[in-house]
Amino acid sequence: MKRLKTLLLACLVLSVALCNAADKKQNTQAVVKNSIHKIVRADINTPDDAILELKNGNKRFLLNKPENINYKEQIEQTKGRQKPLAAVLTCMDSRVPPEIIFDQGIGNVFSIRVAGNIEDEDILGSMEYATEHAGAKVIVVLGHTHCGAVTGAVQNVKLGNLTHLLEHIRISLANNVTGDKVVDETAKNNVKQTIKELYEKSEILHEMVEQGKLKIVGALYDIETGKVAFME
Ligand SMILES: [Zn+2]
Repeated sequence: MKRLKTLLLACLVLSVALCNAADKKQNTQAVVKNSIHKIVRADINTPDDAILELKNGNKRFLLNKPENINYKEQIEQTKGRQKPLAAVLTCMDSRVPPEIIFDQGIGNVFSIRVAGNIEDEDILGSMEYATEHAGAKVIVVLGHTHCGAVTGAVQNVKLGNLTHLLEHIRISLANNVTGDKVVDETAKNNVKQTIKELYEKSEILHEMVEQGKLKIVGALYDIETGKVAFME
């Protein structure tokens, strides 16, 4: 009798363990299914959808609750093709990685990075590829606070090839403020100036905006808080 009881107890323990394992498998499958849906971006159809996703991504980043961090799975899902929702032109500053601060991981964002987020012909070509050819629905020109390149421009630094780059930023020098505010105000002006140049210099981008296929927006990333403030 005692042996039978022991046997029954063992069966009970085993069946509970099997149930738990089955539940766990189901949950894992649900998570995978969910993130596959995210990666193919079936939910992004318009420029406004793309902007909303970037805003939500920054909220997830600020809450320290990222969703797009299963890089192994994202590599698997994007190995045959890519369909990014956005192109982000930002500074090369090591503290401003677009894929992380917008919680987009691999395959969702074209990152174009240069000190001071300025444009030139090659960058325009990259943006035309990202939007007209690859289907990105928004271009974000993203400046940031405490920018070293902007500080160099404000201080009129001369240094080899950097001098030319800083002169490009000096077009946007803020004359209406003083002290510590000059750098961040200049960074904002510089974002607006870059957007103006994108419209003026690229017929392809201009037409796509006119047709409602694309939006070009400015934003400023706060180095101290991690928050992206869109200039809309
Ligand atoms: Zn910078």
